[in-house]
Amino acid sequence: MRYSQPQDPSHYQNRRLDVLAEPPEVGHELFVGLSALRDTLSSRHHSRDFAFAHARYLRSRVLALGLIFALLSPLWIVVDSLVLPSELLRYTLVGRIVLMLGLVAVLLLAYTSGERIRRIRFSAGMLLALPAGFYLLVLFMLPPDQVQNLVGYGFIPFLLVAALSIFPFTLLESLAAGLAMLGLLAFSQHVDGAWLTGRGVESLWLLSSLLMVSLAANHFQLSLLLRLYRQATHDPLTGLFNRGALEVHLTKIQAWQRETQGQAEAGAVPCSLLMFDLDNFKLINDTHGHSVGDTVLCRFAEVLIGQTRKHDCTARYGGEEFVVLLVGSGTARAVEVAERIRVAVENHAFYSRDNQRIPVTSSIGVTRLCEDEPPQEALKRADEALYRAKHAGRNRVELIDAPCA
Ligand code: GH3
Ligand code: MG
Ligand code: MG
Repeated sequence: MRYSQPQDPSHYQNRRLDVLAEPPEVGHELFVGLSALRDTLSSRHHSRDFAFAHARYLRSRVLALGLIFALLSPLWIVVDSLVLPSELLRYTLVGRIVLMLGLVAVLLLAYTSGERIRRIRFSAGMLLALPAGFYLLVLFMLPPDQVQNLVGYGFIPFLLVAALSIFPFTLLESLAAGLAMLGLLAFSQHVDGAWLTGRGVESLWLLSSLLMVSLAANHFQLSLLLRLYRQATHDPLTGLFNRGALEVHLTKIQAWQRETQGQAEAGAVPCSLLMFDLDNFKLINDTHGHSVGDTVLCRFAEVLIGQTRKHDCTARYGGEEFVVLLVGSGTARAVEVAERIRVAVENHAFYSRDNQRIPVTSSIGVTRLCEDEPPQEALKRADEALYRAKHAGRNRVELIDAPCA
């Protein structure tokens, strides 16, 4: 998870800012560019939540393009019957019908895939592989003396490479598909004798150029999608999940709890919620200024991340309220973790602008997340427990347990 570092105001303290133009953020821009390239190259660094959002978007593209291809296929039979010699038609007609049925199957697969990421990616791959396979089949079946009469089919690798650009594929996925299309074009040139001729080299060059344009389109599309996703789901100050993303995530975790219930002998995997509220935070703002308050919030978020595991989820719930979801922890364990974090926050060195140590503590409400309740119910319980912790004197942990069904 990335943190946006708050701008340290003391950095500009001695400059006459009113006479200066906005300073360019070269380092920051460079960082964004490089990290964007890393993120669009492969999906290795994508979060699981983004993978779902990505798959939903990919699915909508597969449905749209699959429908276009499926409608164009029968129309192309009409075009074939007008432009191809009649003895060629029997080689293409059966293939076209198989292609059409394949496209309908891909459409059905994508339509019924819901949020199943692998199935959606498979249907996107098949959408491109089917027309390519059809062309390859026709090239294999055709008698060599008939190849010259196959009008319009050489366009297929170009169409498919252009189609890559409308999918939010990663660069490696698109590159693999593009290289396969270049291979298909090279094979077709072997069959029709254009290989290493001026015309053949020109076609390969054109397809390579088109692939570069498609890769650029993939990069911009995927990085835009990542940026929109981050803006919609992450808090810009701390880089943590925001409240909306947390609630969606809780619903997914509950679905996972229900799914895995049958596999675990002792029922559903226990999950717990910790709700944090910084104590007397208004005083920190009033004493040291709002920007130091912001820095304290960022450092606090780092303490939370440092104290939790990869599968736990940490979110900024509101102003100076945070929520941690502990996956696989019952309430007894959750209270232990909450106590450990409380001590870590108390002992953490938070500093003011003039390097004075700021004492920071937090109150924590703990509750269980039942797999069959609205997530808002569990959050409300955690808030009640937090309220008790405040009333019992702050800088402490309180638990309100819930009997799950
Ligand atoms: P308590 O111990 O009862 O929680 O006292 P408190 O002062 O922390 O509680 P209160 O709700 O009165 O104040 C919360 C403060 O948090 C008020 C608000 O100005 C501040 N705050 C909320 N969001 C931000 C933020 O993004 N940055 C900064 N610096 N302050 C924020
Ligand atoms: Mg507070
Ligand atoms: Mg508060």
